[in-house]
Amino acid sequence: MIKVINMNNDEILRVENLHTSFFTSAGEVKALNGVSFSLKRGEVLGIAGESGSGKSTAMLSIMGLTGEAGRVSADKLEFMGKTLDAENIKSMRGKDIAMIFQDPMTSLNPVLSVGYQLKEALKRHHWEGSIRDRVIDIMAKVGIVPAEERMKQYPHQFSGGQRQRLMIAMSVICSPVLLIADEPTTALDVTVQAQILKLLREIREYSGMSMILITHDLGVIAGEADRVIIMYGGEIMEEGTVQEIFKNPKHPYTLGLMKSLPKPDSKRERLIPIEGQPPDLLNPPEGCPFVKRCQNAMKICLHKKPEVSVLSDTHKYSCWLEVKNNA
Ligand code: SF4
Repeated sequence: MIKVINMNNDEILRVENLHTSFFTSAGEVKALNGVSFSLKRGEVLGIAGESGSGKSTAMLSIMGLTGEAGRVSADKLEFMGKTLDAENIKSMRGKDIAMIFQDPMTSLNPVLSVGYQLKEALKRHHWEGSIRDRVIDIMAKVGIVPAEERMKQYPHQFSGGQRQRLMIAMSVICSPVLLIADEPTTALDVTVQAQILKLLREIREYSGMSMILITHDLGVIAGEADRVIIMYGGEIMEEGTVQEIFKNPKHPYTLGLMKSLPKPDSKRERLIPIEGQPPDLLNPPEGCPFVKRCQNAMKICLHKKPEVSVLSDTHKYSCWLEVKNNA
């Protein structure tokens, strides 16, 4: 697992050795096993990995939203210099750190007008100034016009893309420092996806807010992120700048993800899937979580967690191959 973190004065979020488990009738599901990363002001961090890799769980853990079945522990969990304990996160959630989810229909209340829902977010966080003006302003910024009319309408009167725009409006209405976007475009068609990503880019540019973008779509990450974390089996496999990860991927799992991506300029006809299934987190592997699907697996990979290989200040990966090659 990767634990090396760079300190920086611009750092707004620091996560060290984050563990999250869910207690189910079948036993303890170890969803996160020692995740560490940091985020700078204004930075966009992309987190990629297949379903069950722990990317959403990491964000829910930071937001204090794992529910009663979840148990979260960390050596450090800090945002803007404050520990994200239950008390602090309650006052920061929605105001300093906001989150948007994949499916806007489950996040918007169908029986309340969108204007009412936007106003509520402002009231909850004691917005100073005219609440109505702010709602009209933010609706116009996300392209829902005429805002004075449309704020009286209900979620079902908006298209899928417009509902996602409303969710973005609701998330950024209190001008958060950090926006966590969990698969914000997965449920949308390609044209609307491009519009939503453009909108998020514009909001970031005028507000200077940081963003964590969770997606299984490496193409979205390549276009939007500054840095990338690749997760698998509740651990970080590789992290680096977008250039480092896309030009010089090192971890066998990252390489597998790259090979499964369609390339428009390539003559290759078939995509190469990563054979096998993600690990059972009720009984996570003792060694490398990728061991059962890795074509380079060695004996040591079965029983011992891989050491971190540091390639640059920003590029690190967790695999025995580099250690063996350098021995
Ligand atoms: Fe994991 Fe070993 Fe494969 Fe590296 S070589 S990814 S440590 S199984």
